[in-house]
Amino acid sequence: MGDRWQVTVDRGVCIGSGMCAAAAPDGFRLDTARQSHPVAPETDADERILAAAEGCPVEAITLTSAGSGEAVFPPEE
Ligand code: SF4
Repeated sequence: MGDRWQVTVDRGVCIGSGMCAAAAPDGFRLDTARQSHPVAPETDADERILAAAEGCPVEAITLTSAGSGEAVFPPEE
């Protein structure tokens, strides 16, 4: 891929399931309130981070291409 992604977690939506941190331990951590946050706001494109975003039960994770700003996940309709 070679792309860079901006990673955000909507903490108002996150229910603290921990699935993202399990899928991508380098990408997401849960804080003491069991809210997920990205380890870094920008990261190399990574299948595990995409899998974490896809696997979030409440779609709290948004990925955008750092270069173009295009939606990576959820994909634009
Ligand atoms: S998978 Fe979604 S709901 Fe679960 S901790 Fe991660 S961001 Fe929050």
